[in-house]
Amino acid sequence: MKQTKITVAGAGNVGATAAFIASEKGLGDVVLIDIVEGLAEGKALDMAQAKAVYPAAGRVVGTRDWDAATDSDVVIITSGLARKPGMSRDDLLAKNAQIVKSVTEQVVRTSPNAIIIVVSNPLDVITYVAAKVSGFDKRRVMGMAGALDSARFACFIAEALGVHVGDINGVLMGGHGDDMVPLPRYTTVAGVPLTELMAADQIEAIVDRTRKGGIEIVNLLGTSAYYAPAAGAVKMAEAILKNTRQIISSCVYCDGQYGIRGEFVGVPAMLGAGGVEKVIELKLNAQEKAMFEASAAHVRELVAKVDTMI
Ligand code: NAD
Repeated sequence: MKQTKITVAGAGNVGATAAFIASEKGLGDVVLIDIVEGLAEGKALDMAQAKAVYPAAGRVVGTRDWDAATDSDVVIITSGLARKPGMSRDDLLAKNAQIVKSVTEQVVRTSPNAIIIVVSNPLDVITYVAAKVSGFDKRRVMGMAGALDSARFACFIAEALGVHVGDINGVLMGGHGDDMVPLPRYTTVAGVPLTELMAADQIEAIVDRTRKGGIEIVNLLGTSAYYAPAAGAVKMAEAILKNTRQIISSCVYCDGQYGIRGEFVGVPAMLGAGGVEKVIELKLNAQEKAMFEASAAHVRELVAKVDTMI
């Protein structure tokens, strides 16, 4: 039987962490690729040695040669610039669009049947770039943001309530930006709606901190987060590779759902062997709908801009 294969493009903070988590979870063979000489090779060698400490299935290799990615089942794209203090995700658009375009061309050449998970920012529009350049069936291209943003939401709720984070189902949708749409009405703690457990102003403070969760870390670290983003991407890859059909908020192609036609935006999606198996439609109230539409409109503006660049 063929070993499952995951390629991670970009061996920087997010990419190397994603490769390490996938390697230690034994999800399959892991190929880590970067353009910087020695970077992917060195980090992968270190990870291979970690496997001797905590053994798990699969090999891990690092390289600059895309041929090593041949026949990957999943490719996680993290290549590109990350935010520094004072930058918005949108400031990364021109550079990252070109980088992800060239990476996607290599994915098409080496792994025409792969499922692509984009992590590079600005997430929603870069996911569109990967979909357009690859020409893949839209169910096989998606972006990671909701997995991270809902984890941040859950983490802050757990801290405030003093409960186990695993008991929280944080529900959130929209684009990966300040206009993301956390959904307290659908968020539960061991099945109990969050709105029954916290006062409205306390929920609002957590929603606000979630929206600004990225910049909080950029300001502390001087660069963007990577442990939770990498974990989010691997969680999506695992759902696909193991065909779990788990529902994970992801940036996916909407074809009429939520009134969005022909665009990539963050919504709850069932992930499995075919990629996006289903978009889950929640009933939104007028306020949630307005927030979601504003978020989608922002993504649409950036897509119009990027279309002139690629
Ligand atoms: P990083 O600078 O640590 O790593 C990026 C790596 O990409 C570098 O090692 C660089 O050499 C490599 N690279 C550049 N061009 C390449 C190419 N053509 N092929 C292969 N590799 C190439 O950055 P990071 O912190 O790992 O972040 C990566 C991206 O992920 C950024 O765009 C960042 O904004 C984004 N990000 C997204 C989320 C999210 O929620 N979607 C969260 C965190 C970071």
